[in-house]
Amino acid sequence: IFELKGKTVFVAGHRGMVGAALMRRLAHEQVDFLTASRSQLDLRDQSAVNAWFAAKRPHVVFLAAAKVGGIVANNTLRAEFLRDNLAIASNVIQAAYANRCEKLMFFGSSCIYSRLAPQPLQENSLLTGPLELTNEPYAIAKIAGIKMAEAYRVQYGADFISVMPTNLYGPGDNYHPEYSHVFAGLIRRFHEAKISGASNVVVWGTGTPRREFLYVDDLADACIHLMKTYSSPEPVNIGTGEDISIAELALMVAAAVGFRGEISFDTSRPDGMPRKLLDVGRLSGLGWRATTSLEDGIELAYRAFRAENDRRRQ
Ligand code: GDP
Repeated sequence: IFELKGKTVFVAGHRGMVGAALMRRLAHEQVDFLTASRSQLDLRDQSAVNAWFAAKRPHVVFLAAAKVGGIVANNTLRAEFLRDNLAIASNVIQAAYANRCEKLMFFGSSCIYSRLAPQPLQENSLLTGPLELTNEPYAIAKIAGIKMAEAYRVQYGADFISVMPTNLYGPGDNYHPEYSHVFAGLIRRFHEAKISGASNVVVWGTGTPRREFLYVDDLADACIHLMKTYSSPEPVNIGTGEDISIAELALMVAAAVGFRGEISFDTSRPDGMPRKLLDVGRLSGLGWRATTSLEDGIELAYRAFRAENDRRRQ
């Protein structure tokens, strides 16, 4: 078991949805936190990252910083998604190694699996076929990060591990109308329709793609579990093992928000991967499973969305 107690822990990306959830969960672990806001440390800047690590020397790193977004952001900001995510992974992994970091966790993503890989997606499906085009640049950067963590373990004996979270939702999500992921996009759209009394809400695509959704505090709990207990080159999928169609998700969000109008589908918008469901066999073999149901998670996420809205208006 890897002991976290008393360690200096750097959560890279602590203001993002994942980083903030890690901070909440790590508050129960008696660790010393290190964080750096974007203005203090630009993780894309190699010399700044090297200097920061040499000065702070964290024992443990959660590499949860990334440029992320939904299907439109991924497909539009293609150069930025590849450039920024490649630089962040490369700079932080090398600086962690050079400064004798004891353990690092790199965050991959379920979108790194090839578009038509067998479902549910197993970790050993990585690099078995062509990627989904809408998020290929992001996926390439994330695959490079996973392979880098693996190579540092193999060549240098560094205790670096990788996790593959499924689609996430919860407090601290990005609700941008165009660039968010589906969950946050729908929460916002159904909420605004309810407030304005609109009779119709448009959902992108055909509604038939299937996705798996994990509450972000469950993800954070899984990550702490793996940080303590897992030490191998193979990445670990983190999900619930259950998926639903986008049309079903829209109905659930509409019900939670209290929107009673109609739902229509804009098929000029891309569907992306037909299905993205993780095989969580490896994770459950390691003794962890998700505990927040989608029904409960939607309620929690909607409550957090309204609280964040109220704070923004103050
Ligand atoms: P993906 O999992 O990488 O494809 O990313 P998204 O979460 O952005 O999209 C998942 C699916 O939800 C795609 O089929 C989208 O077309 C669909 N979708 C439906 N409504 C929305 C929306 O308002 N925002 C986003 N981002 N996707 C939506």
